[in-house]
Amino acid sequence: MTTTSQPTPIQSLWQQLREALPESSKINLDEPLARKTTWRVGGTADIYIEPDSESALHSTVRLCHDNKVPFFVLGRGSNVLVRDGGFRGVAISLNHPWFQSVEIQDGYIWAGAGARQKDVALFAKKNGLAGMEFLEGIPGSMGGGLRMNAGAMGAELFDCVISMRVMSPQGEVQNLQRDAIEVHYRRCPILKDYIALGALLQGTSDDPASIGERMKNYSQKRWASQPAASSAGCVFKNPTEIPAGKLVDELGLKGMRVGGACVSDVHGNFIVNDQKATALDILNLIDQVQKIAKEKRGIALITEIQIVGED
Ligand SMILES: Cc1cc2nc3c(=O)[nH]c(=O)nc-3n(C[C@H](O)[C@H](O)[C@H](O)COP(=O)(O)OP(=O)(O)OC[C@H]3O[C@@H](n4cnc5c(N)ncnc54)[C@H](O)[C@@H]3O)c2cc1C
Repeated sequence: MTTTSQPTPIQSLWQQLREALPESSKINLDEPLARKTTWRVGGTADIYIEPDSESALHSTVRLCHDNKVPFFVLGRGSNVLVRDGGFRGVAISLNHPWFQSVEIQDGYIWAGAGARQKDVALFAKKNGLAGMEFLEGIPGSMGGGLRMNAGAMGAELFDCVISMRVMSPQGEVQNLQRDAIEVHYRRCPILKDYIALGALLQGTSDDPASIGERMKNYSQKRWASQPAASSAGCVFKNPTEIPAGKLVDELGLKGMRVGGACVSDVHGNFIVNDQKATALDILNLIDQVQKIAKEKRGIALITEIQIVGED
């Protein structure tokens, strides 16, 4: 007598996703996430999916919900640390062109969550809209930028947001006006659970050449002050007392290393993967920096980077 084994919840979800989603949605099993993050570390996601439309995303979210399988949204992976054991569940990416549109709508810029922040800055310049120049060097997507309220050069993304389109964890879509959205330094809490689909952004009229000049200056400043090696940008949020990078520098921690991970000697708030680091190397280094900052200066360094998955 032959016995057939029951499919696991992941196998069952995978089958349902393949049946529900159009062929142009990418659905992979056991997808390595390291190459989808700028730190280049971490394990696999049980299922990786790039839905090809809002309705395919809706089906994905509904099926995850009904099958009680967790999901997280991966942007361009520039502020994420995936642990070495990977993510038991579904990694959803809005990398399909459907989510990447950047266009003028009623005088505002609509930027889909999958669009690169740099492309939004370039589009704004081309259309003579100032205020988004600071996005030029942030290597993330709009979705990640909204979740993190990304900022640079004294500005942050929600300074420009008029409204944001979101999908709830149950798949309902809403447009939220700016004053209905709670936002903090490097954090938009609703997006811990909801998915950003895109945002309407407001700029002020200016000459594209002047906007371009400011972008050039920002770019020069950035590349003079940050390392070129693989990183996830600033690891820690700036405490109120002192910028995190300055604190790390004053504590003499630049160059401190665990395995293949090293505190950058260019910028104290960057940890670079310069020698085939594991996620655990990076986590241990973060832990050591936090302990020393607490012991020597009484300052609790909070991570800005988002940590996902299991050891
Ligand atoms: C060299 C370098 C320089 C950087 N400089 C800056 C800087 O100047 N300023 C700055 O603020 N950051 C900076 N960063 C960090 C990073 O680029 C930003 O935080 C960026 O906005 C993250 O976008 P992402 O698409 O890569 O998001 P990810 O890193 O993929 O994700 C970040 C978080 O957002 C969530 N997320 C992603 N997409 C969505 C979505 N559609 N809906 C809901 N949640 C979502 C993820 O689940 C995760 O929790 C830098 C990083 C690097 C590597």
